[in-house]
Amino acid sequence: MNTADFTPEFTAEDLQSLQATVERFAKQAVAPHVPAWEEAGQFDRSLYTEAAQLGLLGLGYPAHLGGTPAPWCARNAMSQTLARYGGSGGVMASLFSLNIGLPPVMAHGSAELQAEVVPPVLRGEQIAALAITESGGGSDVASLRTTARAEGADYVIDGEKVFITSGLRADWITLAVRTDPASKGASGISLIVVPPGTPGISRTRLHKMGWHSSDTAQLRFDGVRVPQRYRLGEEGTGFRMIMGNFNGERLAMSAMALGFAQACFDEALAWARQRQTFGTALIERQVIRHKLMDMQMRISSTQAWVDAVTQQADANQTDAAWVAQVCLLKNHATQTLQFCADAAVQMLGGMGFMRGTVSERVYREVKVMMIGGGAEEIMKELAAKQLGI
Ligand SMILES: Cc1cc2nc3c(=O)[nH]c(=O)nc-3n(C[C@H](O)[C@H](O)[C@H](O)COP(=O)(O)OP(=O)(O)OC[C@H]3O[C@@H](n4cnc5c(N)ncnc54)[C@H](O)[C@@H]3O)c2cc1C
Repeated sequence: MNTADFTPEFTAEDLQSLQATVERFAKQAVAPHVPAWEEAGQFDRSLYTEAAQLGLLGLGYPAHLGGTPAPWCARNAMSQTLARYGGSGGVMASLFSLNIGLPPVMAHGSAELQAEVVPPVLRGEQIAALAITESGGGSDVASLRTTARAEGADYVIDGEKVFITSGLRADWITLAVRTDPASKGASGISLIVVPPGTPGISRTRLHKMGWHSSDTAQLRFDGVRVPQRYRLGEEGTGFRMIMGNFNGERLAMSAMALGFAQACFDEALAWARQRQTFGTALIERQVIRHKLMDMQMRISSTQAWVDAVTQQADANQTDAAWVAQVCLLKNHATQTLQFCADAAVQMLGGMGFMRGTVSERVYREVKVMMIGGGAEEIMKELAAKQLGI
């Protein structure tokens, strides 16, 4: 997770001010445009620079690379607030794909490589993505087949990746490859950062159930030549890097799921207060109030758990038991999201089935949250293993 390296004091006031900034950004620069962006299948590229200027892209990165050092509690507060007040899953997935693409560079790249890759991404001028999943299997990372053959000072990369967020637009692609073709399983896997403009990559847009404004692509690599200096760390150590990277992604997804669950609650409550049936507002019905409390109960338990796991991350207490907590939290947070999206759509009635309501969109975003970044079943297996069960 590498937060302690550059985590400064972050006061309660700093946190409040960040939340206010993000709420304003969500309500003014994102929410009004989400329906159009979802229809268009992408959001305006200028959003990257807008978010960068507010310091949102650089949150958690060191100042010498153009970032703002910040603990996990700040980064999670940003994800939760943006999700709650207007950031769609699609916008957030692509806008923040840097947060899955860059952490391996921060943790394992040389100072020289960091200085080349990170600043333009934090300025919102270039886009970073992470490409691990292949059509042969996403959960089983160790079975990946994309190869990088050493040839002189370069690697020559051949293979295919699927479901890659920001795959169409990405300038920098942090790519998982097999540098030892004779190896099987986890050994022989390395991470290479593919630089902007590298020839030989074909990109195909994929069409999805939700997250429409996020670009998701299939990538083909045909004899793609990348200098060996773009490899992260030692050859053959990529699997461990990938597993370490997942923890941060899963924690951020939990905070995001929580924010979306709150967005569903907010919309359902507002609707229940104004919607009249049989001569009275829905909120006057006990069954409706109970449904709202069932939502609130799950939101509160998820909030408490997100806070606890985040606190441990900020205290650098990231042992095996903590990894298990992250896995189980991701499942709990996304189940909370599933429950709240379902309850909100039901409460909104026919309106909940209509494009334009938050709950309709979030309902279509539930499954990707339960699958992406580690599917529910895999989270349980991993948690059990970490706990020695
Ligand atoms: C919109 C979207 C964006 C994505 N973005 C990225 C990205 O940017 N970069 C990237 O690398 N990947 C990305 N992914 C891929 C994502 O991480 C994978 O889809 C996920 O890890 C699951 O892999 P899979 O789809 O191959 O499913 P599979 O691994 O084939 O699994 C299918 C089902 O079987 C279950 N299963 C698998 N193995 C077992 C087992 N041993 N026991 C019990 N059940 C099992 C799984 O839990 C799942 O429910 C994205 C996916 C989506 C949908």
